[in-house]
Amino acid sequence: MAREKRAFMPADPKRVTVYVCGPTVYDHAHIGNFRAAVVFDLLYRVLRHHYGAEAVIYARNITDIDDKIIKASRETGAPIDAITRKFAAIYREETAALNVLPPTIEPQATGHIGEMIALVEKLIAAGCAYAADGHVLFAIEKFADYGRLSNVDREEMLAGARVEVAPYKENPADFVLWKPSAAAEPGWDSPWGRGRPGWHLECSAMIEKALGKTIDIHGGGQDLRFPHHENEIAQSSCAHQGAPLARYWVHNGFLRMGADKMSKSLGNIVLPRDLLKTWPGEVLRWALLSAHYRQPLEWTDALLEQSKRQLDRFYRLLLEAPRGGAANEKTGPAASALPQSVFVALDDDLNTPEAFAGLHELRDIAMQMEGAAKARAAASLKAAGNLMGLFEADPEDWFKSGSADGPSPEEIEALIAERAAARKAKDFAKADRIRDELAAKGVILEDGPESATWRRG
Ligand SMILES: [Zn+2]
Repeated sequence: MAREKRAFMPADPKRVTVYVCGPTVYDHAHIGNFRAAVVFDLLYRVLRHHYGAEAVIYARNITDIDDKIIKASRETGAPIDAITRKFAAIYREETAALNVLPPTIEPQATGHIGEMIALVEKLIAAGCAYAADGHVLFAIEKFADYGRLSNVDREEMLAGARVEVAPYKENPADFVLWKPSAAAEPGWDSPWGRGRPGWHLECSAMIEKALGKTIDIHGGGQDLRFPHHENEIAQSSCAHQGAPLARYWVHNGFLRMGADKMSKSLGNIVLPRDLLKTWPGEVLRWALLSAHYRQPLEWTDALLEQSKRQLDRFYRLLLEAPRGGAANEKTGPAASALPQSVFVALDDDLNTPEAFAGLHELRDIAMQMEGAAKARAAASLKAAGNLMGLFEADPEDWFKSGSADGPSPEEIEALIAERAAARKAKDFAKADRIRDELAAKGVILEDGPESATWRRG
């Protein structure tokens, strides 16, 4: 809103409130949608580090009533609530695979219809909204600050936006708060007839219910700035006698595929579901955090391969370092032992490229150490990574996890079993052949007293 970087000061350090616009659950989310989930998860983690886990309340909503969901239901014949339950569960599961913590509160739109109707009534009473032809519209002329967040000229905005011209609108830019539902569409009884909320309304209603009238931080993708966040501000401020909706606004940049923004309408999307078949979730997380969150990020196979190689270097250290470096295995080293360079970078507007550089530097130093000093350095590095949702895998398991071209763990286990059988039958030539075959595929075997263990080289 201020168009500058400002020091963050919560209104109440004992209750830091964050709201981020979450997914509309009608289909699989694509990796571009996941950038916001990961960026705001990092912000949540950094705030928890400063104010304490109990003090930070992070709400991320689920949009479970929307025309896209109604369309998906019509096309597939599946009931609406079956679709929304399914894709909300998949979203939770897939974001968890990228080490995204569950939000403190996950409000759902259909659970807040009463609050939304009450908000519309308040807006009509305040003179900011009018009912017409089964619809209720917000009159943007009544909100002088309209357009301040997205900084677009009002004339330009009307020309550029895909505003729907409709006979019941006083001004073509007025947006829908409530609209009528046809008999076959989901709807709720309201003072304006049976209908359903417009999309923007739900966030204003849920923010007030879950967090209060003015929150500390509102986040989302930059494509939500206009019209969605502009409309949220108009609704909330008008209903609350001009009280600001959020004290700070944070928007993340797009994911790009070549020259274009990754988007479902352009058809150039990549699904986390498919990526997770090849890559560990941490590789996707590292790749998403590799550029500063406000910058565009180009999504390529090379980025994934590079992210895997970089993480391998850290896991190599964690594998080699003696265990028990942490003062306490459960809580890790004391905060004073955490590497400051990483935190200073994160405190500077989540400067992840700088934080990654700090991690690499610490790793290079730790690799030169030995014994207890190496163990301590590795534990400290692990704690810094954990704050960013990284280095959470067991190092042994990490080197068994997928790569783009290597054999799958199942194929490897099958060959190891075949080799064990060959050895038992004293067919050592065959056993050696299998060992060589695995080595050629980058898999290293270590024979133990019971059976062979393996890792990727
Ligand atoms: Zn929203």
